[in-house]
Amino acid sequence: MAQTASAATENQAGRHQEVGHKSLLQSDDLYQYILETSVYPREPEPMKELREITANHPWNIMTTSADEGQFLNMLLKLINAKNTMEIGVYTGYSLLATALALPDDGKILAMDINKENYELGLPVIEKAGVAHKIDFKEGPALPVLDQMIANGKYHGSFDFIFVDADKDNYLNYHKRLIDLVKVGGVIGYDNTLWNGSVVAPPDAPLRKYVRYYRDFVLELNKALAADPRIEICQLPVGDGITLCRRLS
Ligand code: SAM
Ligand code: CA
Repeated sequence: MAQTASAATENQAGRHQEVGHKSLLQSDDLYQYILETSVYPREPEPMKELREITANHPWNIMTTSADEGQFLNMLLKLINAKNTMEIGVYTGYSLLATALALPDDGKILAMDINKENYELGLPVIEKAGVAHKIDFKEGPALPVLDQMIANGKYHGSFDFIFVDADKDNYLNYHKRLIDLVKVGGVIGYDNTLWNGSVVAPPDAPLRKYVRYYRDFVLELNKALAADPRIEICQLPVGDGITLCRRLS
């Protein structure tokens, strides 16, 4: 049966309030239009395969959306990235978008506390012929960053760093990453609009984990905006990504 216009609008508003909805655009139809017109037709076959595998995983809410994958792939090519890092891999959708964008001798240091999920996507990454670019480290990222800083040889060595892990540690990551990224290099912090909750009123009915991490995201956004060592650009792609270009 045909829906009335107001029922359709209500429905859409409902979908937009769902946690993990991959777009903050005001209309779901508009987001579908972007996916169907510009993203899915150009999505590399291995990324499509990995997206479909991930869709069947119980934690699929965590995956990077296809439009954000396309954005990352384009950005990496535009900046000629070669040496990169990713914190928070899950099944590897953003990792594969990165690996496909880098030259054959490009490198990605990829870290996640969970190796099982990475191994779910690994056969697709291998089949795509890009697994040799990836150095996967299982475990929390922070101690690895501390080791790299203590070692000295990694200072200013990364062209691009994608941070998509524990939101309560983003500022701890930033303290270290600002040293490890090159001058002129880019750090991308993901989920900086946190499901739109950054502007939710205090009594908004937020899911527990959205509410818990929201304050960390708010604090991060303020700190990045005030950091004179970087230029920033907040993009409403996916759940919001803030690009930070190191100035000095
Ligand atoms: N970029 C991924 C993608 O494209 O599918 C999504 C990453 S998911 C949102 C967040 C990931 O961060 C999870 O796989 C989780 O295991 C990982 N994680 C959480 N805490 C971490 C930590 N301290 N160090 C490294 N990874 C962590
Ligand atoms: Ca994310």
